[in-house]
Amino acid sequence: MIVFKNVTKRYDNGTIAVDDLSLEAPKGRITIFVGPSGCGKTTSLRMINRLIAPTSGSILLDGQPTEAMNLAQLRRKIGYVIQHAGLFPHLNVVQNIATTARLKGIAKKQALLIASELLERVGLDLSFGNRYPWQLSGGQQQRVGVARALASDPEFMLMDEPFSAVDPVVRHQLQEEFLRLQRDIGKTIIMVTHDIDEALKLGDQVAVLRTGGVLAQVASPKELLSN
Ligand code: ADP
Ligand code: ADP
Repeated sequence: MIVFKNVTKRYDNGTIAVDDLSLEAPKGRITIFVGPSGCGKTTSLRMINRLIAPTSGSILLDGQPTEAMNLAQLRRKIGYVIQHAGLFPHLNVVQNIATTARLKGIAKKQALLIASELLERVGLDLSFGNRYPWQLSGGQQQRVGVARALASDPEFMLMDEPFSAVDPVVRHQLQEEFLRLQRDIGKTIIMVTHDIDEALKLGDQVAVLRTGGVLAQVASPKELLSN
């Protein structure tokens, strides 16, 4: 479980990006942060893996405050997927996926094996393994990004607009595939999106943020739809 306890982020220029946020992202579920551009979604996500430090408050992973954890250990628990995949341009697909497994201390041969298996799980066949990122479509790059995040078998997944940069048809396909994948892997996921339809489709729980980084409500998609 991921818990936000009264988390506030005030940037040096005075902007309050996140204002006293408290919520729980339950184990094995997808929690979506949704809201307009600038409402503090990315800031909230990046505070979990300490790319950004909260000004006050605390974030706990399975009861452990993140600020008390060793940074490398913290990051090994977390898979991170961003909008434009962020693949390493000088590594081929299998090598890209294997990097996170290697960081966890898995031997090279085994890491490459894990990477090949994950390729299939994200809907790419083995022939993609030796391509380079620039030889892939946006949707294929996102698939590789998801596989790379999964290669270390993290307990938690943070996903920042993972399906936003691809065209609507591919987006729909990636969303469906992702739901199927999650049914198997059951990770504790926080995903950020500005797309309310995506939030309702993918979320077990949806946290609606307002401008100023204020949490408006947390509800299931069913509850949100009936309001
Ligand atoms: P979202 O992900 O919902 O679009 P962000 O978390 O990126 O929102 O940003 C929240 C607010 O904080 C916005 O007003 C944004 O301009 C501001 N912000 C984000 N990063 C910084 C920064 N490094 N310095 C100052 N303000 C920032
Ligand atoms: P995205 O929405 O794709 O994450 P942004 O343009 O919101 O892209 O942010 C890109 C980078 O700029 C982030 O690292 C963010 O922290 C930073 N940033 C965003 N808004 C501001 C701001 N108002 N002042 C300074 N840095 C900002």
